[in-house]
Amino acid sequence: MFTDRQAKNDMSDNNFVIGVDIGGTKTTVALLDRKESIVCELVEPTPKVDFTESQRGSERILKLVVSLIEKIFDITGTALSNVGGIGIGVAGTVDFKSGTVILSPNLPFRNFGLRDAMYQHFKIPIFLDNDANAAAWGEKCFGAGRGISEAICVTIGTGIGGGLIINNKIYRGSIGCAAEIGHMIIDKNGPRCGCGNYGCFEVMAAGPAIAKRAQAAIAKKPNTLVLKMAGGDMDRVNGESLALAAAEGDELALKVLREVGEIVGIAFASLVNIINPELIIVGGGVAETGDLILKFAEDTVRNCAIKPNSEMVKIVKAQLGNRAGLMGAAALIREEIKSRND
Ligand SMILES: [Zn+2]
Repeated sequence: MFTDRQAKNDMSDNNFVIGVDIGGTKTTVALLDRKESIVCELVEPTPKVDFTESQRGSERILKLVVSLIEKIFDITGTALSNVGGIGIGVAGTVDFKSGTVILSPNLPFRNFGLRDAMYQHFKIPIFLDNDANAAAWGEKCFGAGRGISEAICVTIGTGIGGGLIINNKIYRGSIGCAAEIGHMIIDKNGPRCGCGNYGCFEVMAAGPAIAKRAQAAIAKKPNTLVLKMAGGDMDRVNGESLALAAAEGDELALKVLREVGEIVGIAFASLVNIINPELIIVGGGVAETGDLILKFAEDTVRNCAIKPNSEMVKIVKAQLGNRAGLMGAAALIREEIKSRND
């Protein structure tokens, strides 16, 4: 996508930044002007690689990001000298101080120095963080969390990611690995999670878990609108078909959404007790499939978290959709540039 609103007018200043979001399925790169408007955005599938070839796979992703940035320079006529820096959010565990991706469940990075590798190409400031922190910071700066100093951002999609905004800053923990909200253990007798533990929030309530729960319920009680909403195909049953059936008053759909909403609410209640946030911002595909899961989650928080935390917290939907990560990454590099100049 190329929107050239500011591109022509602002070419003379060097206040552009580049935001990058490297996800397990796609990689997005955007040029943002000084008002943080997206001037040009390109999306490509993230290369699928054999995980046993970590170094080569990492270099392929690096090459893709570099080529997308160069393509944006070509399309917009922007010179590298007009760009202040590049902010990158990547799906994985990141040591932001050393600019290293330590590990990623869906990408080949293993202790890969992505920041320095990018710097070798462009010789401008680079900032690297994990995608959930970047998305939380995007919502804090430009979305649902504007003006809020204590917020929890939770992305519920194929997995569950989280970012904590505490005292107006991203809370990263002692070595940068905080906010692994998806791996809070909800039920130690629950199913096995991708991390190796059992009953994590992610394996209990992310998209695949919702589909599995619905499929199990349909197998017992096939007379439901959910299957019809999925075109009669059990494999296509998901949050969306549940939401559509629930809107028609389908009992099975309502039951499954209530169960999932309660699990989400139990996870949120613990977070509300510990962090006392003003807001929980929920993004990702599951949040976009309707309001019922969040409504049931909110009821559970009001019942299960302690007062007054439970009464004051608001649960809202994220506003930036899948642009939260790259916009947050752009804001992070903007701050990094500012701190270097101060
Ligand atoms: Zn886990």
